[in-house]
Amino acid sequence: MTVLLEAKQLVRVYEARHGLWSKPTPVRAVDGVSLKVSAGETLGIVGESGSGKSTLGRVLLGIDPATEGQVLFDGKPMPALGTLAWRRLRAQMQLVFQDPLAALDRRLPIAEQIGEPLVIHGLVAKADVTERVLELMAAVGLRRDQAGRYPHELSGGQRQRVIIARALATEPRLLVCDEPVSALDVSIQAQVVNLLRDLQEKHGIAMVFISHDLKVVRNIADRVAVMYLGSIVEEASSDEIFARPLHPYTRALVSSVPIPGRKLESRIILQGEPPNPAKRPTGCAFHPRCPMAQASCRSSVPALKMLEGKRMAACHLLDLSEVPLVA
Ligand code: SF4
Repeated sequence: MTVLLEAKQLVRVYEARHGLWSKPTPVRAVDGVSLKVSAGETLGIVGESGSGKSTLGRVLLGIDPATEGQVLFDGKPMPALGTLAWRRLRAQMQLVFQDPLAALDRRLPIAEQIGEPLVIHGLVAKADVTERVLELMAAVGLRRDQAGRYPHELSGGQRQRVIIARALATEPRLLVCDEPVSALDVSIQAQVVNLLRDLQEKHGIAMVFISHDLKVVRNIADRVAVMYLGSIVEEASSDEIFARPLHPYTRALVSSVPIPGRKLESRIILQGEPPNPAKRPTGCAFHPRCPMAQASCRSSVPALKMLEGKRMAACHLLDLSEVPLVA
């Protein structure tokens, strides 16, 4: 498969203040992330809140500039933010937000909002905008008679369909979905995930699917990257991640996914909260919570290494093959 999106050693540093008079502290929200997404493929990105997944999504789209590293789209470096070349490229890369109500204008009927990208990018003749909007609405399961409705007159699931229809208007080649179903009822989540999967298969769109919910990611992702404190600690096919997680952090996340027949006692409960990114632990960032930590984990950062020729993980114990292989 052709690589559509490639990130090389991305770093995003913010300055954070912990009090009015305190000095700003650099926070590495994304810390050396490299990844590839092929055309028609879905890469799931999982991790707890504060792991840097959403920041990574914005950096991949160029909305948030990388402090270091590079993003390549179709093999070419991303143009500078705000330039004409960037705006043109952005039409091919769309973002689906977590909160559709916040992403929509409450004062405009939904048809007008779905048609906005068509007008802005001059994608269809003015006379054809209405017809194209109705086509897009049909593609995401919205009815023609809903075209004149306002966002507050729709359910959460319908509003997310509006967002997806608007994202599809520019016929994007990449969708970055940031927690697209976490604000929806569980019964609606499956409908929206199925819709995204169907649209992706039909149009061959590549997708980066960011979520803290592993059940949802399991249903949609071909590959999964697990983030902890700004870095990828494991990456493998979705089947491998869920059947045989290698990194102790992934093992804990996967053990919390309810599976019929799996005993609750087999859950791995992590101690403590994710550390403050401004006070990154030495060595392996996961060591204060890792049930398998050894002395060397406190001083030496494990590299993300290729294992078995097809998956990657960053843990010293994997070098020694000491992590049990069956989840
Ligand atoms: Fe745990 Fe050490 Fe592996 Fe980090 S390197 S995940 S602390 S065993």
